[in-house]
Amino acid sequence: MAQDLRSYLDLVKRRKPGDFEIVSKPVDPRYEITALVVKLEREAKRRPVLLFENVTGTKFPVLTNLHASRPRLAAAMNAAPEATQATYLRAMDKPIAPKVVAAGPVHEVVLKGDRVNLYDLPQIVHHEGDSGAYVTAAISFAKDPTREIWNCAYNRLQIKGRDRTSIHLTTGKHLWEFQRIAEARNEPLPLALVIGVHPAIALGALAIGSIDEDERGIMGGLLGEPLELVKCQTSDVLVPAHAEIVLECEILPRQRTPEGPFGEFTGYSLGERQREVVRVNAITHRRDAIFQDITVAHLDHMLLSTIPMEANLFRAVRAMVPSVKAVRVPGPFTCFVSIEQRIPGQGKNAILAAFGADLYMKRVVVVDDDVDVFDDRQVNWAIATRCQPDRDLTIITNARGSDLDPSAREDGMSAKWGVDATAKPSLASYTPRHRVPPDVWERMKLKDFFA
Ligand code: MN
Repeated sequence: MAQDLRSYLDLVKRRKPGDFEIVSKPVDPRYEITALVVKLEREAKRRPVLLFENVTGTKFPVLTNLHASRPRLAAAMNAAPEATQATYLRAMDKPIAPKVVAAGPVHEVVLKGDRVNLYDLPQIVHHEGDSGAYVTAAISFAKDPTREIWNCAYNRLQIKGRDRTSIHLTTGKHLWEFQRIAEARNEPLPLALVIGVHPAIALGALAIGSIDEDERGIMGGLLGEPLELVKCQTSDVLVPAHAEIVLECEILPRQRTPEGPFGEFTGYSLGERQREVVRVNAITHRRDAIFQDITVAHLDHMLLSTIPMEANLFRAVRAMVPSVKAVRVPGPFTCFVSIEQRIPGQGKNAILAAFGADLYMKRVVVVDDDVDVFDDRQVNWAIATRCQPDRDLTIITNARGSDLDPSAREDGMSAKWGVDATAKPSLASYTPRHRVPPDVWERMKLKDFFA
């Protein structure tokens, strides 16, 4: 499978021409791009890939909304839409190691020293209240300073100067861990920030798992072949050879800068914090590079991140409860799990497994397998009719959670609650649900009674 963004865009155009819109009219990168994405979604019920050719203040065209459709993401994995989760789980179970190649188109243009200028990139401001221009589609590639363990992640970047950004490292996660190791040695942490990739690479970067699991192997698993990497021009960091744009950087030790507020996936614009500082040593890009943006907090962002989250949660619950049926992440910090409960207590074990597998999880609801977790009404019905809160609610206090949760009393510290909404002691012995007898249901045909 081709590993570059452009081949994937060609595939989108071939599969469904209306799924790709080129906008040639000039747009202001301050709010106007987000406004058009959200208006298309809400008013026209459309979520095409958008390529803005003429963005004020930059020569780079801006691509956004790439990930806002499940069939498009499935196509990126060469899977049918209904096989998305199974395909992702297979890539986690059978990763394909990356391979280093001698050269790649990402080095067609190399800018170092005084020629580095982040203000040449599109200066996109997404929402009212954002503290400045943000890069939202950068994937970090970095190595543990002490071991041969690599990590990839999405990290939001606020442009702070010609060669400076802030970086939001999720507290307690893998890149944060690497940075703390480097900082303890008073060393900068080399990293590369990669902008504009095939969505299989984007999906792989969001894999949640052990620090030992190499996201680049999951990218390969999704691509069906080894991810091709080239060495950076100014460091030993390896980056996708076919990317559009790479920022070759270091996170500076013991430096912090104010960052935020920034409107996030939580639906809130969260306040200013002190964050780590990135120095950009080189910018490399393809000729006629496309700058990719993720329309943060909208479908482009939410669909992309929930597929890997759901796969990881399914894997973790399955390790504890083999008869798990489905997992869904319906909103921030929340997951719904359905299980075929064979013995009492498995509902609570599923809750514990989900909390153990994902730092961000704050509310886990477990239902029986006769409840469709993709239907909010059914989940609410199960909570209402199968759950007694004094018996079935589990509250965990003072655990690590998301530092983007505005309800937390202290950044990143959170209580968590599990709701066991399975029938007790078992579904088979529970009060029966009402229904029309099956023979009558079969016999009664609408066409025999109504025109
Ligand atoms: Mn990792």
